[in-house]
Amino acid sequence: MPDSTASAGLPPADRPVYVIGGGPGGLATAYALRARGVRAVVLERSDRVGASWRRHYDRLRLHTTRRLSSLPGLPMPRRFGRWPARDDVVRYLEKYAEHHRLEVVTGVEVSRVERTPDGTGWLLHATGGRRLTGTAVVVATGYNHTPYVPQWPGRDTYTGEFLHASAYRNPVPYAGRDVLVVGVGNTGAEIAVDLVEGGASRVRLSVRTAPHIVRRATAGWPAQYTGVLVRRLPVGLVDRLARPVARLSVPDLSPHGLPRPDTGLYSRVAEGAIPVQDAGLIDAVRRGRVEVVAAVDGFEAGKVLLADGTRTAPDAVIAATGYRRGLEDLVGHLGVLDAAGRPLLHGGRTRPDAPGLYFTGFTNPISGMLRELSIDARRIARAVTKNAGDRVPRLTG
Ligand SMILES: Cc1cc2nc3c(=O)[nH]c(=O)nc-3n(C[C@H](O)[C@H](O)[C@H](O)COP(=O)(O)OP(=O)(O)OC[C@H]3O[C@@H](n4cnc5c(N)ncnc54)[C@H](O)[C@@H]3O)c2cc1C
Repeated sequence: MPDSTASAGLPPADRPVYVIGGGPGGLATAYALRARGVRAVVLERSDRVGASWRRHYDRLRLHTTRRLSSLPGLPMPRRFGRWPARDDVVRYLEKYAEHHRLEVVTGVEVSRVERTPDGTGWLLHATGGRRLTGTAVVVATGYNHTPYVPQWPGRDTYTGEFLHASAYRNPVPYAGRDVLVVGVGNTGAEIAVDLVEGGASRVRLSVRTAPHIVRRATAGWPAQYTGVLVRRLPVGLVDRLARPVARLSVPDLSPHGLPRPDTGLYSRVAEGAIPVQDAGLIDAVRRGRVEVVAAVDGFEAGKVLLADGTRTAPDAVIAATGYRRGLEDLVGHLGVLDAAGRPLLHGGRTRPDAPGLYFTGFTNPISGMLRELSIDARRIARAVTKNAGDRVPRLTG
C-alpha cells in the first residue's frame, strides 16, 4: 500500500478510489472499477476478505442461487452446487480478490470520512492515525454491521447464557439444553431448526410479528427467480399475487402460533423484512419441535418475560434481533443518511453535496443482496469514470 499518511498530499490526479470494506460488495466494486482501468484500493478492517462470511454459523448456505449470487467477472464454480455453503462462499471471495488482482489492504479500519478542504476529494481517517485522500469513496461496510439487541428492561438480571445470533456457530454447546431463540427472520428460523437437529432438549422461538414464509424452491423454481421477476412491479400487485401462492405452498401454521401475516409479502419487504425461506422451520413447527411463543418484553429475576404474561427460564437465550448499519460515526455528519441510519442513495447515485461518495450493500431486496451488489458495483464504476473523469489514476496493463 502507498504510505497512507503521505497519500493525503497526493495531487488530485494520483488519488485512488478508496473502497471501505472487503466483503462481496467492496470486492465487486473494486473489480468493476479495475475493469474500467480505475485504481481502487480496498480497505478492510479485519485480517482477510469476506470477514462477515467467516463469522456466519456453520450450517449456512446461500438461499440465493449460485448463478445469481456470483460477482462480476468470475462465476462461482459448478461444484459449489445450486445453494453454495458458507465455506465455499468464503473460498470464492478469497479467490475473487486474487483472480482479479485487487488491491486489498487489511487491518485498516476507517473511522471517519470527510470532504477535503479544497473540495476535490475525500479524506479518510483510519487506523493508526492514517490520513488517506481519495478521488472518490465507496462505503461497503455491510448491512449487517453491528449486532443489535433491543434495550430489554432487566436484561442484566438474567443469569442464563445470552448471546446475539452473530455469535452462534453450531448446536453443539446446546445439546440437551432448553433454548429460546428470539426473532423469526431467516437467521432466527434457521438457528431454531439447527438447535432441534443438534439435540437441544427444548427449542422455543419468540415471535413478535408472524413472518411470510416461502419455499426456497418450488418444483425446481427458486423463490429468488420470482423475486427478480416481480421486483419492479407495484407493491400492492405483488402482495395480491403472493397470497394464493403462499396458501398453496405453505401450510397453515396458525394452530402452532404462526398465523399468516395480515400485511402483504411485498409490503413487508418495503418495510425492510424479507420473507423467511423455509430451511426446515415449517416441518419443525408442525411437529412441535420448535414451539412458537410470544415476543420478549423483558427480563425479571432471572426469567424471561413474554408479551402474553408468561415467565420462562431457558438455559440460553439467542437474540436473532438483527443488525444496525453503524454508519453514523463514519458519514453521519455528511447529511447522507436517513432517520434510520441508512444511506439516502446507493449505487451510482450520489448527493449533490457529497459528490464522489458512493454506497453499496445497504438495501435488502427480494431479488437477493449479492445480485444487487453486482448491479451496484457496475453502476458505481460507471458513475466514477463519468464524474471523476481524468481525476482518477488509470491502470495500465
Ligand atoms: C446470515 C446471512 C445470510 C445471508 N445469505 C444471503 C444469501 O443467501 N444471498 C444473498 O444474496 N445475500 C445474503 N446475505 C446478505 C448479504 O449478501 C451478505 O450480508 C453480504 O456479505 C453483504 O456484503 P457486503 O460486502 O455488503 O457486507 P459484508 O460482507 O458485511 O462486508 C463488509 C466488510 O466491511 C468491513 N468493514 C466494516 N466496517 C469497516 C470499516 N469502518 N473500515 C474498514 N472495513 C470495514 C467488514 O470487516 C467486512 O469485511 C446474507 C446475510 C446474512 C447475515
